[in-house]
Amino acid sequence: MTYDFGGKSAIVTGGASGIGAAIVRHLAKAGAQVLVADLDFAAAEALAVDIKAAGGTAEAHKVDVSSATEVEAMVAQAVSMFGGLHVAVNNAGIGGPAAPTGEYPLEGWHKVIDVNLNSVFYGLRYEIPAILASGGGAIVNMASILGSVGFAMSPAYVAAKHAVVGLTKNAGIEYAKQNIRVNAIGPGFIDTPLLSKNLTPDALNYIKGLHPIGRLGTSDEVAALALFLLSNEASFITGSYHLVDGGYVAQ
Ligand code: NAP
Repeated sequence: MTYDFGGKSAIVTGGASGIGAAIVRHLAKAGAQVLVADLDFAAAEALAVDIKAAGGTAEAHKVDVSSATEVEAMVAQAVSMFGGLHVAVNNAGIGGPAAPTGEYPLEGWHKVIDVNLNSVFYGLRYEIPAILASGGGAIVNMASILGSVGFAMSPAYVAAKHAVVGLTKNAGIEYAKQNIRVNAIGPGFIDTPLLSKNLTPDALNYIKGLHPIGRLGTSDEVAALALFLLSNEASFITGSYHLVDGGYVAQ
């Protein structure tokens, strides 16, 4: 990846692990100043230290993205540390409980909607004014293949990710003339701690087989699409949803 993010300030939520961490590394390598925002501060700090040792610019920030006030403070922190904001990746997310809709635990529903959907609204709500004040930029929201198709036993996750795609379209059309592009990414199943923490080896094998390519994706493969969408090379792309799924949704 040879994009130039020199002079750009970025926030990546859920930036300490998996897909978020890969996006952080690639943005920093391309010259961005990156706020690694995560619930797991120790992991965010370890990644920021790594990036600084490699000559990049990154700072760790603790945030619970399901809190609007914490998201507002996260954006303020990026602006005060880096002097503005140009790039944001609303990526933090959780899987939630596995149960059919008729038995889904109410507490689990609210938690998944808070962390996977309300968080993206809070991100856009506070990032957009900061990006406007900095002269424009680009936002990527992390949806999923489950932003366009269902997956049994995951009603909250599927509903949240479909809504993230809708929210992305709305923000994309609202700010198209003000030099902010907003896009969503729909990864297939990606080999990250989100999967390895929650699935047995048998379930993982079954999931691999659901992808025509016959394997899970990697965080770097998702980061490649994110960097393109955030870069000036994607200057005519906004309000849209882009799959990186090994053919999953084509079936
Ligand atoms: P991951 O490895 O579990 O990383 C997610 C990071 O977000 C973790 O560091 C986690 O911290 C943090 N986080 C969780 N809740 C948070 C909160 N309330 N506030 C701030 N940070 C929080 O997950 P991933 O697989 O990279 O997933 C990243 C995104 O991609 C998610 O939105 C996910 O839905 C989406 N996605 C993933 C896949 C996949 O197959 N992996 C497929 C499609 C879409 P803790 O570790 O402390 O919880």
